Amino acid sequence: MPELPEVEVTRRALAPYVEQKTVESVIVRDRRLRWPVPPRLSALLAGRTVERLRRRGKYLLWEFVHGTLISHLGMSGAWRVWPRRRAVPPPGTHDHVDILFIAACVRLTDPRRFGALLWHDARKGDVTQHPLLAGLGIEPFDARFGGAWLYRHTRTRGASIKQVLLGGDVVVGVGNIYASESLFRARISPKRSARRIGLVRYEALATAVREVLTEAIAVGGSTLRDFVGADGADGYFMLDARVYDRAGEPCRVCATPIVRVVQGQRATFYCRVCQKR
Ligand SMILES: [Zn+2]
Repeated sequence: MPELPEVEVTRRALAPYVEQKTVESVIVRDRRLRWPVPPRLSALLAGRTVERLRRRGKYLLWEFVHGTLISHLGMSGAWRVWPRRRAVPPPGTHDHVDILFIAACVRLTDPRRFGALLWHDARKGDVTQHPLLAGLGIEPFDARFGGAWLYRHTRTRGASIKQVLLGGDVVVGVGNIYASESLFRARISPKRSARRIGLVRYEALATAVREVLTEAIAVGGSTLRDFVGADGADGYFMLDARVYDRAGEPCRVCATPIVRVVQGQRATFYCRVCQKR
């Protein structure tokens, strides 16, 4: 499933081909994503210029003067770009949408169709108030995010810190893999109640969250060419995990076997010795 790093790498891959570029037309082959793709998307976007391609959590925001195209990759979605339209291969079964610019073609592929492509008209107000975006927590790379932020927003949260991170309402982008990895680096037990973690330990966690996401984006950056004109490869990537998916293998710090537990139906991996409390 695409997480924040995949979405950020996608954004960086697409931006040079779409920002300040004018849409010629949009081909919608199948509207059936998680919610129906707007029926008149081509009429809405043709002749309009993408001002900026932004990311908020796992959403890509295509900002036009008259509104914003909100896209989410769901479980299996991917955007690909072909810098020259002559080189674009014929669409496959799961290639639901093409956005055509004068030079480039940007194509949305989504085999499982849990992704979304929605239009938010500028007359309805700021896109950050859209129901899908309004409840999102702070961005992990926002200057306001840090130990104090985590501390302040967890004083009444009795749930485990792992669950709170996954919730996305305190901070976005810390998906299942990144939650396990960050907690390991900060030496915090994933089962620890969020309100019982002190400021100093939250400082360590905030640093770890940023480190883990930065590394994952860097790994993705090195595979950036896979997004440009590639076919076949799914374009996902992962950092070299220290605990995630390593149940039974020795901890890289203390050699104790890594434990797998299930929290809220999601697997958590941790070291019982390094992450005692
Ligand atoms: Zn250990």
